[in-house]
Amino acid sequence: MTQYVYDLADGNASMKPLLGGKGAGLAEMASLGVPVPDAFTVTTQACVETMNRGGEWPESLWGEVTEALARLEERTGRKLGATEKPLLLSVRSGAVQSMPGMMDTILNLGVSDETVDALGREAGNERFAWDSYRRFISMYGEVVEGIASHVFEDALAALKLEKGAEQDTDLTTEDLKELVARYKKLASDELGGEWSSDPVEQLRRAIDAVFKSWLNPRAEVYRKANNISADLGTAVNVQQMVFGNRGETSATGVLFTRNPSTGVKELYGEFLTNAQGEDVVAGIRTPRPLAEMEQVLPEAYAALLDTMNKMEQHYRDMQDMEFTIENGELFMLQTRTGKRTAAAAIKTASDMVAEGLITKEEALQRIEPAQLDQLLHPTIDPNNTVTALATGLPASPGAAVGTVVFSADEAAERGENGEKVVLVRFETTPDDIHGVLQAQGVLTSHGGMTSHAAVVARGFGKPCVAGVPGLRIDLENQQFTIDGTVVKHGDTVTLDGGTGEVFLGALALVPAQINDDFSNVVSWADEVRQLGVRANADNGPDAAKARELGAEGIGLCRTEHMFMAADRLPAMHKMILAETDEERADALAEILPMQQADFEAIFTEMKGLPVNVRLLDPPLHEFLPSLVDQSLLVQKLELTGGDPAELAAERKTLAQVKRLHEQNPMLGTRGCRLAMLYPEIPEMQARAIIRAALAVLEREGETVEVEIMIPLVALQAEIKIQREIVVDAVEDELELAGKELPYTVGTMIELPRAALVADQIAKYADFFSFGTNDLTQTGIGISRDDAENGFLGHYVDDGVIKSNPFATIDVDGVGELVRIGVEKGRAVKPELKLGVCGEHGGDPASIELFQKLGLDYVSCSPFRVPIARFAAARAVLNQR
Ligand code: ADP
Ligand code: MG
Ligand code: MG
Repeated sequence: MTQYVYDLADGNASMKPLLGGKGAGLAEMASLGVPVPDAFTVTTQACVETMNRGGEWPESLWGEVTEALARLEERTGRKLGATEKPLLLSVRSGAVQSMPGMMDTILNLGVSDETVDALGREAGNERFAWDSYRRFISMYGEVVEGIASHVFEDALAALKLEKGAEQDTDLTTEDLKELVARYKKLASDELGGEWSSDPVEQLRRAIDAVFKSWLNPRAEVYRKANNISADLGTAVNVQQMVFGNRGETSATGVLFTRNPSTGVKELYGEFLTNAQGEDVVAGIRTPRPLAEMEQVLPEAYAALLDTMNKMEQHYRDMQDMEFTIENGELFMLQTRTGKRTAAAAIKTASDMVAEGLITKEEALQRIEPAQLDQLLHPTIDPNNTVTALATGLPASPGAAVGTVVFSADEAAERGENGEKVVLVRFETTPDDIHGVLQAQGVLTSHGGMTSHAAVVARGFGKPCVAGVPGLRIDLENQQFTIDGTVVKHGDTVTLDGGTGEVFLGALALVPAQINDDFSNVVSWADEVRQLGVRANADNGPDAAKARELGAEGIGLCRTEHMFMAADRLPAMHKMILAETDEERADALAEILPMQQADFEAIFTEMKGLPVNVRLLDPPLHEFLPSLVDQSLLVQKLELTGGDPAELAAERKTLAQVKRLHEQNPMLGTRGCRLAMLYPEIPEMQARAIIRAALAVLEREGETVEVEIMIPLVALQAEIKIQREIVVDAVEDELELAGKELPYTVGTMIELPRAALVADQIAKYADFFSFGTNDLTQTGIGISRDDAENGFLGHYVDDGVIKSNPFATIDVDGVGELVRIGVEKGRAVKPELKLGVCGEHGGDPASIELFQKLGLDYVSCSPFRVPIARFAAARAVLNQR
């Protein structure tokens, strides 16, 4: 029979899939002798089966729970619901992958009218018992009974106002008794009946509510954003309560073994005396820095630091830990791998290698390639002279510029529409997650740096400034005030999540700087990866940037824009409108030196490395006015009887426009098709390339490995003819110069037919570069702009398609075309050099495929080169 419930002593770290991260972590700590309150765990499998059965528990589950409860009562010498020595429990969710604050926790289960006196007597602290009771009613009421949280919040606020209490802790025992009475009344009203208080029944319903919270909307948003499967389910941990709210020698808190924002090895944590865990993690109160605990609770503090170091050594990774101190005695409530920013991921990985805690390969596996993206984002100019409007807690680094909004829904909606907004809230709550995801950053007046929402913001790389003292939010008037300054809905602010500063207006940002830790880690990736990494660049500055970021050459140098520049357009028009070969030759002769200069600039930056130049892939109509505009112009001249010479010229242009007008330019005279019509164009380009390479050799003593690429080939005859044109021109140039220069000629594979007949094409190609952007368009038969602005979003949302195929390659379809191209190409030419240009070359998930298919290199935008270097190493490690 399946076992659905495990005692604390029967679990360990390796049972994470079954016990969830929290359950396994608690069991592991207990087995290492760390003080952990006794507990049992209901497995993720029990949750999954319950979901599959439409909410009905597996038959044996409740029996197992009551048996485990009996064993727990036996071990603790306490009994749930007893009027002497009552057992109080927490009921906590815990999935396999941690989802901070996304599901529900219920504390103090077991407190009731019957047990509250015993609880107070035993603690010698009546106030504490009633404080626990009112907390229980609101948590249970919200989570299990589904009563809106504001019902309880409003009642608490009203009572505080009546009693003139600033803080919750200012309320007296009598006040709390009054509050409990009001809470019970409210709950009964909401539920239309009496507040039930059978603790065993409450336990059953609490476990059930935790199962259900797996499917709540914020958990769903979180799973989607983090690619966590909805089928995994959550475990439920039922644990004896320890009390941080027993007075001033009791406390609760959260810590990270290293700074999760920066990765620096330093004390990073927060605590509150006389409080329960939710006060800290739910951002209800702004907690105190952990360092201050040394004064207040020195012994517990020392024990905590000791445990913290032990756990980090044991897990060999940064831990996110929760603790409670009851009457000076320390208990650990959680340890899990700490969520961290990219900067912290890199810093901790790099430091831990230096400390000998982990190997370089382990370090690589600890960093998500996509995380590196975060680091490449701009920051506030360090020389900024604008003074901050306010300073709060630096809860998640990075710069955010956006207009102020006050609701998560609005942030989600406007953010999704591409607007830049900053979400301003009273406190950081996990319920806001959909807004956080779409905002540039988050600003809160309350809450600390270890609150769930701050943890989540760091995980998403969203800048966050929390707990700004003196910031007053006025929702009614949609504005906030700070030190007399009023900031309205729609005003622009800038946040610096690294310093906690808030500025009015949009501050200037500077590009991200790559530090030593970053370079370290990426250089370790270089030791592991097999794929080469090149960049796509069409000018000198981009080429220089690419090289600085570690590109090993250029995988795609487009030449279209070289024809587009304003000083070239007249010559270009001349070429297109040419009526004779001589006219066309003249125009091309004008263009050649300009192209050569462009190539020289790029080749100078890339000397010593390969540069792949793609010959013109023309949207020819883009060089000419639109058919409609030109027709109107001609009509106007005809009607007004203008200058006959002008009219003749415009008519001639119109005729050309008509001739070049295509129904479907994407599938029209593109790629080498134009070169087939006008061979003098590729010839001119080949000459310009060779002249440039020779000029750089002459000047610099070194030049690039020239690769000349024929675009959009579908037929063997096309590559055969184009290759001949290029080779003839190159040989002629070399002969004229009396020089030798190695070069290769190849093609882009971007049409399904080309992939399918790759063996025929390979005969005339020294290399293939898979143009996966066009291959996706032509392979799936969708135009990118139309798809991305239209149906594709729906497809992704509705799960018709897993992800945008222009961002991550469609493995089954387009990926298969690449595989066929590789196989057929290499079958006839084993030494055929294979690369990918197109945005997939910088996408970690796509890089995995390219590694598997055995390509030689990927090429991506300069900016993504470090990510690609890193992802290529990860692909090797994942393949092992
Ligand atoms: P999450 O996974 O969302 O962090 P937790 O299950 O860790 O949720 O619970 C939230 C808070 O409840 C924690 O901060 C913790 O301090 C508190 N808590 C949970 N179990 C106990 C317990 N047995 N005794 C005291 N506090 C507890
Ligand atoms: Mg929780
Ligand atoms: Mg927790």
